[in-house]
Amino acid sequence: MTNKKRVLITGAAGFLGSHLCDRFIAEGYDVIGMDNLITGDLKNIEHLFKLEQFEFYHHDVSKFIHVPGKIDYILHFASPASPIDYLKIPIQTLKVGSLGIHNCLGLARVKNARVLIASTSEVYGDPMVHPQTEEYWGNVNPVGPRGVYDEAKRFQEAMTMAYHTFHGLETRIVRIFNTYGPRMRLNDGRVLPAFIGQALRGEDLTMFGDGSQTRSFCYVSDLVEGIYRLLLSDYAQPVNIGNPDEITIREFGEEIIKLTGTNQKLISKPLPKDDPKQRKPDISKAREILGWEPKVNREEGLKITYDYFKSLSPEELNKTAHRFD
Ligand code: UDP
Repeated sequence: MTNKKRVLITGAAGFLGSHLCDRFIAEGYDVIGMDNLITGDLKNIEHLFKLEQFEFYHHDVSKFIHVPGKIDYILHFASPASPIDYLKIPIQTLKVGSLGIHNCLGLARVKNARVLIASTSEVYGDPMVHPQTEEYWGNVNPVGPRGVYDEAKRFQEAMTMAYHTFHGLETRIVRIFNTYGPRMRLNDGRVLPAFIGQALRGEDLTMFGDGSQTRSFCYVSDLVEGIYRLLLSDYAQPVNIGNPDEITIREFGEEIIKLTGTNQKLISKPLPKDDPKQRKPDISKAREILGWEPKVNREEGLKITYDYFKSLSPEELNKTAHRFD
């Protein structure tokens, strides 16, 4: 028997899942990646297939999960995560957040593993409290376009907490705010790949509404560090991880135009229904409990991310249509 820790990461081929796989491999863990590849892409983890510490299961976690051998930690990151994705595949989004977490929690009980779930700032909906603290319960429209994602994530938190209190399972809940970096999908409809893709193709940047809505963008390595610390902490209540540096979408578009050196313009498109007007994490808990705060500022992070998108092939860059169209 080896003493090496073994971690199962669901959604391993996605943007965040793949960076987590890299981090746990680097920390000396054995990593089991699991993904049904609906929104994930094997390209994100192909560099890991040659490693003996890594194994991959092509599996939908909404169905019963069987993994032989011990598991120390389960990180549940499988889920469509952009508004375009969950509008196109709403039922899968609901299932992976509900049936998927139920399977993960059941597996964790059998394996005596600790579970960390990827929750989201979307549990706060269009927030009436700003910045958002973990104590805020949110302002979510259950039957609006974001309801399938927001409510699945809220249910996921409730289910996880129930396993913690009822079964004494070790659980962790991270509420992830907008995160960016290499391996984001160019066609996932999120604002950063949308803007950078448009700039690289010489198109105008589609700003939704008047661009006065705000977001706070966290670079992926900072997020991964926060998640890693939370997993190893003994804190079972939800923790916000995000960068509190808030910016309007208009200013963000202007930054992208400057960064890419194009002479494109920002053009206004209709604001989608229930688009949160403001979002900024209160990270006091992460600071206190995990000794964590973000290190990478937007200028540095955007530069790395832009270099990644620039390195993509013209075919990839031109894949503007979403893959479910
Ligand atoms: N947005 C935009 N243009 C785009 C895509 C998104 O102006 O082409 C806006 C969107 O309306 C939202 C913000 O950018 O206010 C962030 O959107 P994203 O989909 O990245 O994530 P959200 O935080 O809304 O889940």
